[in-house]
Amino acid sequence: MEHWQNKHYSFFQNTACEYFPCHETKHPERFNCLFCYCPLYALGRNCGGNFRYTPSGIKDCSGCMIPHEKDNFGRITGRFQELCERLRRLEQTKE
Ligand code: SF4
Repeated sequence: MEHWQNKHYSFFQNTACEYFPCHETKHPERFNCLFCYCPLYALGRNCGGNFRYTPSGIKDCSGCMIPHEKDNFGRITGRFQELCERLRRLEQTKE
């Protein structure tokens, strides 16, 4: 078992949210609201999720449950270093 499993900081639900659950699921009890806006969105095509691009070029994640699945806390946080590295490189190109 991972250190973050069954911890309050890795899973919470806002069942009072007007959109809960905001993605279709057969298991709403496992629906994690922690990453409401997916941190991996910034990885573009490399996020590893089930996205599509609309004809106008918008990344549409409505078919993806990765950030909302209870067991995926480590999968999301495990890519924070990569996100930081991308930001660092982006900032360097601006200097
Ligand atoms: S919700 Fe899914 S498809 Fe969208 S950025 Fe996150 S992992 Fe990728």
